Amino acid sequence: MLSSRYTIESMARITVLTFVIATVAHLAPFIATEALGPTITFGQSHKFEYIDLSHTLNNNTIHWLTHKDPVITFTKREKVPRNVTGTNSINATSPSYWLQADHLELDLHTGTHLDAPVHFSEGKWSVDQIPLERLMNIPLAVVSVKSQVDKSRSYEASMMDILEHEQKWNMKIPPNALVLFYTGISNSYASGRDAYYATTTNDARQGAIPGVHVDAAQFLVQNRSVVGVGIDSASIDNSIHVLGNPMTHETLCANNVYIIENVNTNLGRLTNYKPGYAYASILPIAIEKVSGVPIRLVATIDHYNSETASTHSTAHGSNIETMSHSKHYRSSGSTIGAILNSER
Ligand SMILES: [Zn+2]
Repeated sequence: MLSSRYTIESMARITVLTFVIATVAHLAPFIATEALGPTITFGQSHKFEYIDLSHTLNNNTIHWLTHKDPVITFTKREKVPRNVTGTNSINATSPSYWLQADHLELDLHTGTHLDAPVHFSEGKWSVDQIPLERLMNIPLAVVSVKSQVDKSRSYEASMMDILEHEQKWNMKIPPNALVLFYTGISNSYASGRDAYYATTTNDARQGAIPGVHVDAAQFLVQNRSVVGVGIDSASIDNSIHVLGNPMTHETLCANNVYIIENVNTNLGRLTNYKPGYAYASILPIAIEKVSGVPIRLVATIDHYNSETASTHSTAHGSNIETMSHSKHYRSSGSTIGAILNSER
């Protein structure tokens, strides 16, 4: 909540600069909608909604099966006697002040985190080397495979799932996108590690983790342009492939495409938005040379500038991306096979 407020205050400052509003009182208050994220309204012109897609990090945060628990220690939480000296003493109204300081021990692939390309591809980008333009305000596409995962928990999202999503919205995934797959497994996260992985062991193969098929990864890399691919499960390779044959990790990393794992269950809320309706900001700490790090993953929806999600995309003639691709999706009798053939 603190950082949401921070964002809002930052945005408020920008608004003040842009519109030269004289007092803070003129800024419309933000309205907290549900627990999922705040909405902020700037006068008549903008209404941003922020959706937090990341798990809060604490000592119980779920991490990769063989990794260690995070340890957050409050090294100081105390009142410190004030030593009144010099001119700053004018505001010293209390004989003490509060001080909290904290220490963190962490396996970096914990909770909602980013896999940098170097994780599975030698010489590719580490966390700190990923350019900011691949992390900030990235068009978001959320592909739901929940019904498939409900039937088979180790399901791998396929190229067909991506094409069906595009056909549903009558548009391609926009360029330089982040594609997130919603499996619904994130709904079991709150029940703890064993429920989330579907095993009481430390062996992923004993459990059931949905992932993304290597064919889907290849399709995104070769036939679309993506900066990142993510999922609301513990691994982008499913539980059958992650140990020993992690080809989805390898394919994405080899192409400098980063991976996001353990997206939280708020992702389900974004499945009804067309590709590019929401934007994602992916905020990793720039730790030098590392292969992964927990992130704050936030989706932003600009309800003023975006088209309504329920509106069919062909209704918007001004949408060049839609127009350029609607032709073959609208052609009568088009099948997924025909669409794929026309792609190649
Ligand atoms: Zn990872």
